[in-house]
Amino acid sequence: MGKNKMTFDFPLGTIPKGFVYRDQSKRYPWWVKSVDKMTTEIDESIWERKVTDQIQMGLFGDPEKAKEKANESVKKIVARIEKEVPGNQLKDLALHYASTTFFAAGVSMFEGNFITHMFPIMEAVSKVIHPPEELGVPKWQGSPQEASEMVEIAAMQLGAAQVGFTYLEPRFLEHNVDVDPTVEKIKTTPEGKVLIPEHLKYVIMVAGQAPLEAMKHAPSQIGDMADRSGYEDRQMVWFRMMNFIRGLGYQAKPIPAAMPPGIPFGLMAGLGEMGRMNRLISPYYGGALRIEGILTDMPLALDKPIDFGLQEYCRHCQKCARACPAKAISSEKESTWEPQSNFSLKGRKLWYENPEICWEWTGHNAHYCSACMFACTWTKDDQTFLHTLARISAAKLPFLGKPLAWLDDLFGYGPVARKNMGDWWQKKRPTKGANSRRR
Ligand code: SF4
Ligand code: SF4
Repeated sequence: MGKNKMTFDFPLGTIPKGFVYRDQSKRYPWWVKSVDKMTTEIDESIWERKVTDQIQMGLFGDPEKAKEKANESVKKIVARIEKEVPGNQLKDLALHYASTTFFAAGVSMFEGNFITHMFPIMEAVSKVIHPPEELGVPKWQGSPQEASEMVEIAAMQLGAAQVGFTYLEPRFLEHNVDVDPTVEKIKTTPEGKVLIPEHLKYVIMVAGQAPLEAMKHAPSQIGDMADRSGYEDRQMVWFRMMNFIRGLGYQAKPIPAAMPPGIPFGLMAGLGEMGRMNRLISPYYGGALRIEGILTDMPLALDKPIDFGLQEYCRHCQKCARACPAKAISSEKESTWEPQSNFSLKGRKLWYENPEICWEWTGHNAHYCSACMFACTWTKDDQTFLHTLARISAAKLPFLGKPLAWLDDLFGYGPVARKNMGDWWQKKRPTKGANSRRR
């Protein structure tokens, strides 16, 4: 088998042979282990792939209903301004709008389908690039290791919080998307099947960071601003990185899907582990990350999944389940193979969050919420000795999850009280409201 030749005679969730891997020893501090298999258990015999239409219907419903819901949301938002609810004033709302300028460009922030509207914008921003063939110069050449190191440096410069590399695993794709060796470009068949050419076999995972202090103000317009800022950051680095790869003479495409399946690729690229709240938890940023993937034909050295003890830690911690105002997150001690909603898929052993309950709550309250993500004990905005010690303790003694979560509460790492939310404006903030904490 030649270098970088993809084969599928290996269990899902494990790293395949035939690729070059980066040296993982310098990627994280010593308490984050590099492993050959993602820490979420997988049962391939019952593995289900995502169905776009179901997800889209759950998120957006039909356009008329979406409009109705949007009108309801606007009424609630206006009522909060009129009642002078802290964190929900005009300046908070204006900041929320501003934070989503790029992410929601082209649609109303109340009605927009933030997923599909991105594609024309992506097309527009790609026009910036003059690829090497147009300039009459050869494309960039280097080893997979050199390519990954260069791409990581570029991504960090262009705003990424974290970067990881993995391969295009078709079993992670939606039910109607597959790799097809007979196509040269991504193609949609008349039957609605999306076919990806075999040469787009590398995946660059980039992450944007949400401002943690503002996230603590959820649910409010400031909290919503924090939630959207994470997406805005991700969007910027995602589009910029696609242009970077094209500028080197290689292809760069989003993973085709209405709701790109980022998490399994993020787990394989070692950006984090799957947490109780059913989201990727980073050892650096906790739940305050937004991730996205880029398919490319540029040969890259891949990364490996990581293990920082989160599966055991989440059994005991449960802080996100307590923080969820909708009670949408499991507070069972053990994870399960049984999905808890129509939108959850079989084949993964998880603490299933119930997205229908989450969407119902957020829709009814006209907020994005994300309280679970900031409540996570791994979501911390500084690098003090005590926080590093807490991270090491959590990773190495994960059965102490309960007392560590209790200490977290004791030190006041929780939501800001509604009456104090207006105070957010009293303090000067670092650039983008977040200190970059990647070591
Ligand atoms: S976003 Fe809010 S409602 Fe949804 S799961 Fe998280 S805490 Fe619960
Ligand atoms: S808050 Fe605790 S239980 Fe929830 S994902 Fe984070 S570490 Fe796991």
